[in-house]
Amino acid sequence: MHQAIDIEALCAERGLRITDQRRTIARVLSESDDHPDVEKLHERASAIDSRISIATVYRTVRLFEEAGILDRHDFGDGRARYEATPEAHHDHLIDVETGKVIEFVDPELEQLQRQIAEKLGYRLVDHRMELYGVRLEREG
Ligand SMILES: [Zn+2]
Repeated sequence: MHQAIDIEALCAERGLRITDQRRTIARVLSESDDHPDVEKLHERASAIDSRISIATVYRTVRLFEEAGILDRHDFGDGRARYEATPEAHHDHLIDVETGKVIEFVDPELEQLQRQIAEKLGYRLVDHRMELYGVRLEREG
C-alpha cells in the first residue's frame, strides 16, 4: 500500500547523482499513489519546475527503474506506469473503464500461488497479479 517512499534517499543510497530536476521528479513520484505514466509525471513535475522536459522525465524514470527504485507496470493500455518500489508486496486491480488502479493484498492468494509453484517444482520468489474489472452495478 502507499507509504510515501523517499525516492531521494534511495537515490543517495544507490549512489545516483541527484540534480535539481531529478529531485523534483523523485518528489513527485514519492507523492503519487495513482501509478502515473510519464505524461502525468511530466505534468506534475513541470508545474513545480517548468524547465523539466518530457525527455528528462523519460530518462529519469528509466534511470530510477534501472536502479530498482521504481516499478514499471503495463496495465493493458500500452502506457508504462510507475510506482516507487513498494517495501511490502501488493497486487493490482485495474478498473478498465476509468483506468483507476486499486492495490490489494490477499494472503490466501499469496499462499495459493506458492502452492502452485511448488506443485510445479519451484520455490516462488516473485509474482505479478493484475485483475481487470468493471464496477458491479449497485442498484436497489
Ligand atoms: Zn501499486
